[in-house]
Amino acid sequence: MNAPALEQIRQRLPEFKVDVMLVSAAPNVRYLTGFTGSNGLVMVWEGGAVLFTDPRYAIQASQQTGCTVRIVRGSLAAAAAKAIAARRWRRAGFEAARMLYSDFAALGDALPLGASARPLPPLVEQLRIIKSEAEIAAIRRSVLTNSQALDATLPKIHPRMSEADVAAELEYQQRQFGAEKPAFETIVASGARTALPHAEPGAQPLKPNQLLLIDMGACREGYMSDMTRVFALGEPGRKLRGIYAAVLEAQLAAADAVKPGVTAARVDRAARRVLEAHGLGRAFVHSTGHGLGLEIHEPPRIGRKDSTTLRPGMVITIEPGAYIEGVGGVRIEDTVLVTEAGREPLTPNSKELISL
Ligand code: ZN
Ligand code: ZN
Repeated sequence: MNAPALEQIRQRLPEFKVDVMLVSAAPNVRYLTGFTGSNGLVMVWEGGAVLFTDPRYAIQASQQTGCTVRIVRGSLAAAAAKAIAARRWRRAGFEAARMLYSDFAALGDALPLGASARPLPPLVEQLRIIKSEAEIAAIRRSVLTNSQALDATLPKIHPRMSEADVAAELEYQQRQFGAEKPAFETIVASGARTALPHAEPGAQPLKPNQLLLIDMGACREGYMSDMTRVFALGEPGRKLRGIYAAVLEAQLAAADAVKPGVTAARVDRAARRVLEAHGLGRAFVHSTGHGLGLEIHEPPRIGRKDSTTLRPGMVITIEPGAYIEGVGGVRIEDTVLVTEAGREPLTPNSKELISL
């Protein structure tokens, strides 16, 4: 149970004129209670907190959380509504960006006359944006696991392998080094397909004199890591080497811009300016990065318009890229911790263009 986080949620309830908050998003339930099951709902109010889950998780929930656990059959939202009715509360806040419509409807149906469900902003996500020492330690372990999996895979890559074979080896190695699972579907793309930022690994054998792009993340102890590296299979040619050098320059410039007090938009601008100077501004089709933690994509977004001010304890990715249809693409991505002094790139892997 995360007592400080529950207390911070409690303190904000009056601001939104609600008696109780219902937290239904699984990562938020985990953050507040420690419960990792797929079906949970936390009810937080001034005097306490209860975790609702179903009979499949009765043993697990009692082991994982210090919260009061209530085992219910059927809709957890409806069970929470009954608890709300019993306590004669009138105003129940829910996570507007997270609750399923079916749960919202079940909640509304079960609330007593005169009680209402009120949409709340992402209060738990606002707490999760600053990582605790324990969370930072878990992210470090996740990053290390991910990096070890890449290092163990590189010597095994040979020309008869397909992108899908490489992805399978990477995910096997992630588990070997302690990951529970990949943080997302591993991206392995070669040749012109590297121009697809989210390519799905294909079955065709790797070809020589191309680029190979690997974007991989580990989930360890529930915490994510995220890294992209691009390799040369033989000699990819001057044009792609030029794109690689420009993206690396942009990645280093954006990482250098990371420090407390600057906005996420300013970090994005640092990457974009470099790529624009190389004539690749329009080839950079996504934002510079994103926060990560219990989820692979969390606030802040390191994008053109994000006004979030960076603070120590945020963990973000820095991942500019440039993609040219028919030619190929390059993205270089590190996981970076914002520190009091500036930044600490957590990803240890080399960013030189290595030939496999
Ligand atoms: Zn990535
Ligand atoms: Zn990423």
